Amino acid sequence: MEKMLLKRVDIPNSADIDVAMKNGAYSTLATAFGMRPLDVVSEVKRANLRGRGGAGFPTGLKWELCSRVPGSLKYLLCNADEGEPGTFKDRFILLQDPHLLIEGMVISGFAIGAERGYIYLRYEYPTALVVLEKAIEQAYAKGYLGKNILGKGVNFDLSVHRGAGAYICGEETALIESLEGKRGQPRIRPPFPASQGAWRKPTVINNVETLSNIPYLLAMGADAYAKIGEETSPGPKLYGVSGMVNKPGVYELPMGTTLREIIYTHCGGIRGGKKLKAIIPGGASTPILTEQHLDVKMDFNSLVSAGSMLGSGAVMVMDETVNLVNVAYVLVRFFAHESCGKCTPCREGTSWLYQVYQRLMHGEGRLEDIDLLLYICDTVKGKCFCPLGEGAIQPVLSSIKHFRGDYEQWIKEGRRGQA
Ligand code: SF4
Repeated sequence: MEKMLLKRVDIPNSADIDVAMKNGAYSTLATAFGMRPLDVVSEVKRANLRGRGGAGFPTGLKWELCSRVPGSLKYLLCNADEGEPGTFKDRFILLQDPHLLIEGMVISGFAIGAERGYIYLRYEYPTALVVLEKAIEQAYAKGYLGKNILGKGVNFDLSVHRGAGAYICGEETALIESLEGKRGQPRIRPPFPASQGAWRKPTVINNVETLSNIPYLLAMGADAYAKIGEETSPGPKLYGVSGMVNKPGVYELPMGTTLREIIYTHCGGIRGGKKLKAIIPGGASTPILTEQHLDVKMDFNSLVSAGSMLGSGAVMVMDETVNLVNVAYVLVRFFAHESCGKCTPCREGTSWLYQVYQRLMHGEGRLEDIDLLLYICDTVKGKCFCPLGEGAIQPVLSSIKHFRGDYEQWIKEGRRGQA
């Protein structure tokens, strides 16, 4: 597949607007403005683009819901709070091709009737903040942002809002709370953001990668786009691969590429010729898989059938030398730290899990602790206010399911880890 999302990232100085324009940036604006906004929405719906942030909600449907809400004040928010451990694919676009994102946002704003957009950027991306602010300034100077864009009467203002470092603000309603200057905690839904989002106005929130698809989708048309990759969730996908592979990095491949092809063809296999042991397919909150799952396609439906999730497409690869108790501990520690504290099962459950893993890390684990961990997960499962609590128990449940022997060995040998 010819690269689209990463087409410009290797060009020297690709974040500069002149370089980006020479290589096609902003060339789809005229196409979009030549259509009726609802026709742009229909095109995105027909292409069956699904959100690349994790949930995989159909983008066109989200846009349609928002665009049908009466009222002239609407918001478009870009979720650039890329905080899921293992995830670093949006950073490539933010740093190397910010004009792709801006063009995608101008078109998306036009489609849903929003004249104001924000990029909610994670605190830990200070370089991206500098790059984005410069890119936005350049886009204003060239007339691609602001009033009467391309002389077509389209208005769109855009700025960056920097988060304060909380993982929970990647959840869309917590993101909105934070943007409004409040404590970043999820809101009860309904109402959904499409009808009442930022400042209680209709709001669409899309991920960086999702919005960056829009210019290419419109340029090639929905029919051609829908033929890329997997039928149920077509299009290009950025897979960020880390861990014990020879060539970690961000790979743009058709949605539905198998784990085997990603790991062995594109990433050059396991480092040092070792044996593959475990794979986290979509970021820290997605259930761990094993080498038996190598032929699973990396798309939303196939991964659910295999007992996991596509999540952010952040593939973490572990070889035979890894003990999964250590991996689960590190992830549980993260989730316990990031629990926002709003609901009891998540707040208490994650810190209880953390305490049990602490015992394991100090070489004081007991065999009954394995069932205790499962019991705690059961007290959390299905009882949390937002997906963080559900995500926090996945490393525990899946590591025990597939690698119970690692736990037994760890406890019997009285092993210690870095607590
Ligand atoms: Fe906060 Fe966790 Fe409850 Fe989500 S599940 S609202 S992060 S305490």
